[in-house]
Order: sequence, then structure tokens, then C-alpha cells
Amino acid sequence: FDGIGLDFIEGKKTLELIEKNGFPCDKVLFAGVVNGKNIWRNNYEKTVELLKNLQNKSINTVISTSCSLLHIPYTLKNEVKLSDTYKNHFSYASEKLVELNEIKKIIETEDYCNLPEYTANIKLFSKERSGCNTNVKEKVNALSEKDFTRLPVFSEREKIQKEEFKLPLLPTTTIGSFPQTSDVRQTRASYKKANISETDYEKFMKSKIAECIEFQENIGLDVLVHGEFERNDMVEYFGECLDGYIFTEKAWVQSYGTRCVKPPVVWGDISRAKPMTVKWSTYAQSLTEKPVKGMLTGPVTILNWSFPREDISLKESAYQIALAIREEVLDLEASGIKIIQIDEAALREKLPLRKCDWNKEYLDWAIKAFRLVHSGVKSETQIHTHMCYSEFADIIEDIDNMDADVITFEASRSDLTLLDVLKAKKFRTEVGPGVYDIHSPRIPTVEEIKSVINKMLSKVSYNKLWINPDCGLKTRGNEETVQSLKNLVKATKEIREENNL
Ligand code: GLN
Ligand code: ZN
Repeated sequence: FDGIGLDFIEGKKTLELIEKNGFPCDKVLFAGVVNGKNIWRNNYEKTVELLKNLQNKSINTVISTSCSLLHIPYTLKNEVKLSDTYKNHFSYASEKLVELNEIKKIIETEDYCNLPEYTANIKLFSKERSGCNTNVKEKVNALSEKDFTRLPVFSEREKIQKEEFKLPLLPTTTIGSFPQTSDVRQTRASYKKANISETDYEKFMKSKIAECIEFQENIGLDVLVHGEFERNDMVEYFGECLDGYIFTEKAWVQSYGTRCVKPPVVWGDISRAKPMTVKWSTYAQSLTEKPVKGMLTGPVTILNWSFPREDISLKESAYQIALAIREEVLDLEASGIKIIQIDEAALREKLPLRKCDWNKEYLDWAIKAFRLVHSGVKSETQIHTHMCYSEFADIIEDIDNMDADVITFEASRSDLTLLDVLKAKKFRTEVGPGVYDIHSPRIPTVEEIKSVINKMLSKVSYNKLWINPDCGLKTRGNEETVQSLKNLVKATKEIREENNL
């Protein structure tokens, strides 16, 4: 081949490796210096320094983006509502192409410091950005080991909680969301457009919650949920309640297949503007004697599914978000919510490519951010977490280290191979590996679920096993959900009887 493209953005060591090993003089280097995965403008001063460095090594260089542009939105031209204060810092795909041209011009101009393209960029980056919150910064700086440590230790809490909740063995629960039927989506949309009043919106949501609680009680689930009808999306919803986030109209990006998401943007320091879920959770709990899980999204997932800042580290942003979610956890607890689930659906997503970087670059702060969220609760408050995709055999000890009391995840599609890992690693957190796949409308039979539970019981102690679907039910219809959950409860009851549990 004649040329090779290297990523200088995520490839933190790319320059170092070139300096160490040199670069073949018969090849062209396509230097990925404009970030293809984020929406911020390029910092020309830094980029020019890097390119000059390559030039000095007589490397034949083409200026390029760090990767293909499918991870970012198309053009800023249609982003009309957002104010210029923010937009001046933005660069979507077509603007990144303009940046490449400008950088080329700068590099080719001897006296580039006076070029208007360059001076404007320098000015942009030297300006103090709005959205700075010294209070949040101080809180993050003051964090110490004890803020990341929940006491008493897991084994003691487990005993206390068994006593507190007196749940049957193999407790049954769901992951949080119930079907988002068209009436739910329509009502949320009308509320957003101010076509219905807040009072009417609340009345509707409460009727959905009441219906959901009644259904779960009727079929005999043990730990209930409110149904998450108020949420469009598990990240955007929280972003909207947090100071420091901004939202775009048009920044849609592909998530997978034909699905698209519009990630919120971390602009400033993050703090909780107001209670985010307390109203819905306490209303749901007021309708039943059974425990209702408070339902939150964890800091790592919120950050991983947003466009993050580039002017502070991911770690610092994660801790800021963690402190905000922690406030919500403590509020829920103070309002009588005894079980709180903090979803970390996307925990694995930002794991670095190189295994040697896993801890230092990511897990060390990602796991700690989660621990920070829940370390302040009482021993009898039960902390759950949920993760999608079951590819975590290689980080299973880190997951245990999140120090949740219960974790539910998706193992049903991977033929429960994860169970062997749980056993081998003596996983201590209680687990609900998911007894059926919610990604299809197919209704699992009682027999089928029983056989899955039996398989689980051969690997996981009956003292630690929870019975639940493998993910939230929001993409399912009511009909199959009702039948599937009825079968889940029936299967569990039969297993309990057959095994005298
Ligand atoms: N609690 C969320 C739900 O039930 C979890 C979603 C997810 O794991 N992606 O929808
Ligand atoms: Zn999930």
C-alpha cells in the first residue's frame, strides 16, 4: 500500500510511536487530527503544532479526520434554534471538512499567525466558557476514598436486607420500563409542545403508573417498578433535568442498524437542577405495600451516550454526573424508596482497545463513579444495577466491585455462558441474568422459563438468584408483555414449590 491513516485523537500514543519507530519515507501518512466522533471545533493551535512536528520529520502528510464521519451529525446549517454562544464551538461533519481546508491553508502559510481563520480559532479557545460551576469543581476535588466506599460491607448488608425485605427466594422483578404504547408517546409529545397542561400530563402519567402497579400486583411480581412512561430515553430524560447539559434539534447519529439517537451535549459543569424522579417513584410506592424500585441511569452510561466535553477529562465529567445522581439517590431514600436501581447499560462501551489501558484509562474511574452514586445510602437500602449485552466475562471482577447489592443483565441470548464465569469468579453480587429475551415479541412458555431457571440454579446459589426479563420492556407491546410476565411468575412459583424453596 501507499498510504496509511492513523488516528491522532483516540490514538493517544500515535505520535509517540512515530517518534520512536519513525515512519516509512515511501508512504503517505493520513493524519487523523480532526475528531470524527465529537461535535466540537478543532483547536488549531494544538493541531498545527502536531502537524509541524510531523513536517519536521519530513513525513509526507495528508490532513484528515480521525475516522469516518458517520458518528457525527451532518451539518450545523439546520441547527437553527441553538444560540451562537454554543454553536460557535460546534462542528458537525460538513464543518469538519471546512476545518480540514483551513488547517491546510494555515500549514501552508508562513505567517499563519495573522490569518483570520487562525486568530478567530485562537480567540474562541482562549475565551472562558460559560457554564462553569466552582461549587461542583470543589466538590469533585474534595472527593476521597471514603466517598467511594459503601459501608457496611456487602456480606453484612445482604443479611440486613434479607431481614428488611423478607422477599421469597428467587424474587421476581422487571428491569424498569413497560411498553411505551402510542398513547404514552403521544401524550409526552403533546406535553412537550405545550398542547396539554402540566396538570393533565401528570394525571395521565399517574393513571399509567397506577395501571402498571395494579397489573404487577395482580400477577404476583415481588419487586415492582413504576414503568418509566415519563421517559423518552434513559439518557436524554436525565440530561434535561441536569444543569450543564444542552440539547440540539438536529444532531442525530446512527446508534445501530436503522436506529438513531440524538445524544445530549455536555456543555458546562454538571449539577442537579431539581429532583428528577422522586415524584413518580413516590407516587408509585404510595399505591402498594410491595417495594417499588426507584429507577435512575448511572453516570457512566449518561456520559457514554452524550457528546462529552473535551476541555476537561471524562473522569471529571463522570464524577460531576455521579454527584448529581447521588443527590437523587439520597432524595429517593429520604422519600421512602427502599430499592433503587441505577442502570449502567453502556458501562462496557468505552473500554479502551488496549487491554493494558483498561484500568488506568477507564475502569478505575468508571467503577468509582458508580460507587460514588450509592456509597451514601443506609445499609437496608438495596442498590440494583442493570447492564445490557453480556460481553463482560473479562471485566466480571470489576462489575462485582461496583458493589451493588443486585445486578440484572442480559445473558439469555448468549446461551447463559456467563453463568460459568460467575461461578468461577465467585461473583458475590446477587444476580438476575434474564430468563427470556425481550428483543422479540415471542412469548416464552412456562416450561421454557422453568428450564432456564433450573439451568441457572445449577450455577448460581438459590440465595442469590433473581428472576426477571433480560432488559426493559419499552419496545414491546402490551399483549406479549402481559403473557410473558404471567408465565415468568408462574414458572418461578412452580420452581419454588418443586424445590421446597
Ligand atoms: N431501566 C431501563 C428500561 O427498563 C433500562 C434500559 C436499558 O437497559 N437499556 O428501559
Ligand atoms: Zn438492558
